[in-house]
Amino acid sequence: MVYNIVLVGPPGVGKGTQGIRLKERYGIPIISTGDILRESVRIGSPLGKEAKSFMDKGALVPDEVVVDIVGERLKKKDCADGFILDGFPRTISQADALESLLEKQKKTITHVIIFDVSEEEVIRRLSGRRLCKKCGNAYHVIFNPPDNVGVCDKCGGQLYQRDDDNEETVLKRLKVYASQTSPLIEFYQDRGVLNKISGLGSIEEIFERITFVLEKRNDNSKDS
Ligand code: ADP
Ligand code: ADP
Ligand code: ZN
Repeated sequence: MVYNIVLVGPPGVGKGTQGIRLKERYGIPIISTGDILRESVRIGSPLGKEAKSFMDKGALVPDEVVVDIVGERLKKKDCADGFILDGFPRTISQADALESLLEKQKKTITHVIIFDVSEEEVIRRLSGRRLCKKCGNAYHVIFNPPDNVGVCDKCGGQLYQRDDDNEETVLKRLKVYASQTSPLIEFYQDRGVLNKISGLGSIEEIFERITFVLEKRNDNSKDS
């Protein structure tokens, strides 16, 4: 079974947290457009310079820019046996572009996992989020603290708070999600690949729900 997975959900729902675990379980790469863009901003590349003003405002970076990034990334060899897209697509136009990109490689998205969590909960999660500078692993000061304050358990990297995890930008990002990204739910429902799971509960419980969905579909497809 090849897993070509898309993780969809509002900012702070736990996509990155679960994505890293899925990557470890299935041995497939995670492609996070947010991580790629933040890295470009950090090194000050032309892409980073273009993206920064959108990201600071909590707005989406133009579709063409992110579609190009993902198109290049999907061509790499490590995506041959599956991949996890985190934070892409985020608009219908990106989803259409993704379909054309995959069509050229004779691939399709096999599973879209959509996380369902209340707005109050994602705000709580984002307000305490800390990320590792080195490996990108996410922590939360209360819900998922590292063993040592400010230090990544996995790699010893330094933890930091994202500039856009401030209240004003978070509210803007939630609005953008509701207006521009949530139409993807219907888009993928129509294609029969949508799986909605509750994003409430512990990180382990949610991981179980996702793998249940992924591995159950696998069995079904063998039966039919
Ligand atoms: P979160 O973890 O809060 O869901 P991301 O790290 O995925 O956020 O994205 C951070 C920012 O990067 C977004 O607010 C947006 O400006 C930009 N971005 C990331 N992915 C995309 C995308 N697919 N399309 C447009 N902009 C994107
Ligand atoms: P996203 O990639 O969807 O923006 P993250 O994976 O970065 O979300 O998670 C956002 C914040 O919520 C992080 O601080 C993370 O540690 C925390 N978090 C993730 N999953 C859970 C959970 N099940 N319960 C409580 N907090 C969580
Ligand atoms: Zn780390």
